[in-house]
Parts: sequence; C-alpha cells; structure tokens
Amino acid sequence: MTPRVILHLDVNSYFASVEQQANPFYRGKPLGVCATMSQYGCIIASSKEAKAKGIMTGCRVRDALAIDPNIILVEVDPPKYRSTTEKIFSILAEYSEDIETYSIDEAFVNLTGFVRSFDEAVTLGEKIKQRIFSEAGEWLTCSMGIAPTRWLAKFGSDTCEKGGLIVLTRENLDAYVRGRELTEAWGIAERLAARLMDLGIKDLGELKHYPVTNLMEAFGIKGYELWANLNGVELSGVQTPRPPKSVGHSHVLRRRTTDHRFHEAVLMKLCEKTGRRLRGLDMEAGGFWLGFGTTLGGGGDSVRFLERTADSRVLFKTAVDIFRQQHRAGVPTHVAVGCFDLASVSKQLSLFAKPKDYGLAKALDEINDKYGEYVVMTGSMFGLAKHHADDRIGFRKTVSWDVTALDKRLMGKDVGLAIDHGPELIREEA
Ligand SMILES: [Mg+2]
Repeated sequence: MTPRVILHLDVNSYFASVEQQANPFYRGKPLGVCATMSQYGCIIASSKEAKAKGIMTGCRVRDALAIDPNIILVEVDPPKYRSTTEKIFSILAEYSEDIETYSIDEAFVNLTGFVRSFDEAVTLGEKIKQRIFSEAGEWLTCSMGIAPTRWLAKFGSDTCEKGGLIVLTRENLDAYVRGRELTEAWGIAERLAARLMDLGIKDLGELKHYPVTNLMEAFGIKGYELWANLNGVELSGVQTPRPPKSVGHSHVLRRRTTDHRFHEAVLMKLCEKTGRRLRGLDMEAGGFWLGFGTTLGGGGDSVRFLERTADSRVLFKTAVDIFRQQHRAGVPTHVAVGCFDLASVSKQLSLFAKPKDYGLAKALDEINDKYGEYVVMTGSMFGLAKHHADDRIGFRKTVSWDVTALDKRLMGKDVGLAIDHGPELIREEA
C-alpha cells in the first residue's frame, strides 16, 4: 500500500521576495511592501532582512522608518505576485492533480500514489525547490513540510528552518514536538494556549500525550482535533485520500522536431507514468484523452475504452492513435495525457476476475520499484529515451542489477519488453 504523503509548501517572505526577485537592487536589503505609501500605512510583508531588524508584518510605516530609515518601501503590486504564484503552482501541477491552493504562496500537494515512500517525496520536494529557483526566480525560497497528514505537513513547514524541508512521521514526531511552545502549532493562538496551560499542559509534547478524553471534556470536538492533529490522525476530509477524478501528466517538449519517434517516446513515458499512477492508486480508467500544442495551434481528442484499464500499453496505443489522427501541421511544443472515469480495481475484482495483464503490470512496477524506475521498459521506449534524457520530466536514473527469480519469470514472457541493462541509456535529468 502506498503511504499517504502530503507536501505543504510555503514561499518565504513572499511579496517581499517577489519584489526582490523583480529588482536585484532590493536583494539582501530590508524591504517592506506597503498597502499604501503613507507613513500611517502598514507593512503587509517584510523581507527577511527587515524581519531580522524586527520590522514585522503589520508594522506601521512610521515605526519601520524609525527602526531603519533606509528601509526600501514599495507599494503592493498584486499582478506581480499572482503571475509568480501561477508559475509556482504550474510546477506543482506537474507532480499531482490533487493540489489545494491554501493562499497566494502556500499549497498542499497530495503526493499519495505519486511517490512510494517519504524518501521519494523528499527527492521530489528538493526537485520542486530547484525548479522554483530556476523557473520562478532564484531569489525565491520556500519551506516544505512532508507528512502523512495535511496538518502535520503545514506544521512542519511552519516550524522548520526558513527555506528548509522537513519530514514528519509518526516515528519522529515525539522528538520533534517535545518542548515546543504551544503557539507554534497551526491553530493554537494565545488564548487557547492559556487555557491549555490552565490544564497544566506546558508544551506541544505534553499536549500530544495528554489524555484525549480529558481534552474533549475541556474543549469538546476542538479537544479531539488538538489531539488528532498532534498524533498524526487525518481530520480534513477522509482518512484515505479522496480518489482522484482523473490522473494525467503533461510535458513541454524542449526539443522541437517533426520526428514522431521522439514524440511517441515522450507519449510512452507520459502513459507509463499515468499507468503507474493508476496502478499505485489501485484504479482503472474508463476513458483517455490526449492534448497537444504545436507551433501552429494544437489539438486533441478523448476516447472511451470498451473495458476499463490501467495498462500503460493500452494508454500508449490510444495516445499514438489520437496523436496520428489529430496532428495535422506544426511542430509539436507540448503534450498532455490523462485518464478519466476512474474506478477502483479491488471493487471491480469482487465481480470480475483480475485480468492477467494487470498482475503483469504490477509485477513490472515491483521490479522498477526495486531497481529504479524504467529498468524494465516497453520496447517503444527502448533506444529512444536517450534522445530526450535531458527533458524536464526526465527518467529516474537506472541502476545496474542482477536478474532475480522475479525478473527471470518476467523475461520469459512475450510482452514486447526490452530490458535496459545499464545506466548509460538514461541519465537523471539535469
Ligand atoms: Mg509564506
């Protein structure tokens, strides 16, 4: 079972950082973004350099100038922040379709099914940070929390070092919360903290271990929430992640070519990722769509399957059919594929026998899980991967491997597979 993994991202000193990004002269200096440029106005965002001097959000312009007469003051510029937010969130959208925009600079990304472990989520988190740095702005840093629940993910990014990344699990949580002030917790303000103190609860570690019944006696449902949040119990929504309505992946083609072998290799990769995501969620799709853009416009289409599937090869064949039918002119610039009308496999299996290919695909996922992704690839990918190994959504690196019993079992099957024996064909993306 893939673990439930939520990532929370919070861009540090957002408005001020965007201003510093836009004007390199402002970088490294105390800066305040003001609602209006009057000395009676207040600072709605201060840069980390201003914060270091004690000029916090909400500080009056007059008071800020008293602390630092050289502080740079700029008027709030919402379109600038929105366009940066769009860039950042479109990066996030490449990694999950289940994103909750929490504010202009904060989002929850449900990575359940996209990653198989917290370690993998950390790798992905680092990659997202790197992409924000290179695509949205090198002056933008963000804090990230990765955890099994939404609350813990945000608590992690709120409390970790600015620009840091933290993983909170039920295993390391005790040590992390021990001795922390009550007000460090998301949702605990001064008044609630005072009431908790009255019960003799001095810090978050004590709150975590305080008997839930006593908390409920004192605070009702809020008491349960306090306990659940600190003990890694998901409260927002359902316990298991809400099944997505659709899954898919998109890709901007950095290489502009009319060579369809290249486009089909990219489609294969996107379909394989989509198929794996479906299988990771234990779901099958009733329909599939493909969209693409070209230098002369674009196109796309959707189809319904006669039988639900999670087979990457079926998705790929469908993608190629649509692409060949719909692509008339222009050099392709981006492609996107997606599956809709999803249904849980286990539910259907109570009615129908499991298709043989489903088990095979799951076994391939198992090998790829064990040895690195795309150690085993379908034939169409074979030999084509190196053409676009430097593409943005690159392959994971492959590792050298020994043939085990499981692999031998699969190698005997005629499933149109090519086996990649070495890392030289594919390399980790730059
Ligand atoms: Mg922020």
